[in-house]
Amino acid sequence: MSAGLVQAAYIIAAVFFIMSLAGLSKQETARSGNYYGITGMAIALLATILGPHSDGVPWILTAMVIGGGIGIYFARKVEMTEMPELVAILHSFVGMAAVLVGYNSLLDAPVLATHAEHMIHLVEVYLGVFIGAVTFTGSIVAFAKLRGLISSSPLNLPNKHKLNLAAIIISALLMKWYLGGDGALFPLLLMTVIALAFGYHLVASIGGADMPVVVSMLNSYSGWAAAAAGFMLANDLLIVTGALVGSSGAILSYIMCKAMNRSFISVIAGGFGQTVSVSSSSEAQGEHRESSAEDVAELLKNSKSVIITPGYGMAVAQAQYPVHEITEKLRAKGVKVRFGIHPVAGRLPGHMNVLLAEAKVPYDIVLEMDEINDDFSETDTVLVIGANDTVNPAALDDPSSPIAGMPVLEVWDAKNVVIFKRSMNTGYAGVQNPLFFKTNSSMLFGDAKASCQKIIEHL
Ligand code: NDP
Repeated sequence: MSAGLVQAAYIIAAVFFIMSLAGLSKQETARSGNYYGITGMAIALLATILGPHSDGVPWILTAMVIGGGIGIYFARKVEMTEMPELVAILHSFVGMAAVLVGYNSLLDAPVLATHAEHMIHLVEVYLGVFIGAVTFTGSIVAFAKLRGLISSSPLNLPNKHKLNLAAIIISALLMKWYLGGDGALFPLLLMTVIALAFGYHLVASIGGADMPVVVSMLNSYSGWAAAAAGFMLANDLLIVTGALVGSSGAILSYIMCKAMNRSFISVIAGGFGQTVSVSSSSEAQGEHRESSAEDVAELLKNSKSVIITPGYGMAVAQAQYPVHEITEKLRAKGVKVRFGIHPVAGRLPGHMNVLLAEAKVPYDIVLEMDEINDDFSETDTVLVIGANDTVNPAALDDPSSPIAGMPVLEVWDAKNVVIFKRSMNTGYAGVQNPLFFKTNSSMLFGDAKASCQKIIEHL
């Protein structure tokens, strides 16, 4: 394949990637968005492998078969609830790839025409390795936190912001040494160690409830790491793709920050979870009332309007199918049923939307938090299905809570609130929920799927 043809294929692939992003931005078009992405990636891979610059095609194909096999195995095996962990660990691969490409492109440096070009290449290598190393360890810590391998509470080293600043300043000084030594290996190695520690510290310092922002931030970092690798390899498509991922991840981080009421700048600086005390109690804060499936079915039959607010527990229980069945039964009886989706419900941006779409819940009754928050006061019954932090009034009332300031679904304004969960345990942020002790709240204990199925029987 000639170089001109490869460039043409790259442009076509880039257009497919842009169409893919556009498709993925709406539920109705998400499936075609995925197909565009797959087509773009297939064109990109073929053009790169068949292009004039690739050697050792059998090696590339062997690596692709092994990598593809592992990818297919994990993609088939992974549960929806484990998706964020998978995404986090995949980001770490992008980070590691950027580090390896950086070292390779320094040790096996291309011959460049001018001194300026050579220096630019050295800077690309340095920045690529830095971003890649931060992404690598940061993503591994995010993976470990999401999987519960390490505690989700923030690591509070003394002077943590100064430590972060010192890491950046030392890395900048090492860059001077590295460039002065015409790409000296030792300062690059030293910087890599510092960047690995920096990435670890940046994510470890962030508290549990702020993890959604971290995941989307690492998504963005992995894009910039890929773009940096594109510069090092002089591969235009990798630069475009990396920039697309990097900027869309940054936009997502911005949206998540707004949803969580956090400052975007302090997120980028890392360790933004430390401003609130983590002392909020996980102890019970009063008496709670228990309900039964039969009572809840009766309550629903007598309601004119119902809002369902799902959370992580619905994903764990895979309760989206019986939830849909309840919805259809109630709608058939003339009850107005809608869903209220908190932007960080579950463990992945858009997690609840994906589950509800999977169960074929109509899109037009699934509303964002901002669209539905004023309607709770005119609602007869709210079903909180496995949600906790996202319906916690302490976010608004208790300035010392780790989730203080985060906008929440104000379900307690409804006439009746039924909370589906298995125990009085806390949610992801580890704080007790005063909602459970309100006079208009009742608890329906048990696995959310089993509870929904019992309600269906009584309906
Ligand atoms: P939470 O994690 O706050 O609470 C989930 C609740 O579900 C728990 O209290 C649990 O209670 C209950 N539960 C678990 N399994 C079941 C089951 N089988 N049946 C019934 N109930 C069950 O969920 P939310 O969705 O409200 O909040 C999401 C949290 O996750 C936020 O703190 C958010 O910041 C964080 N997060 C979000 C990410 C995202 O991108 N969306 C990424 C990372 C973190 P019990 O054990 O008693 O059953």
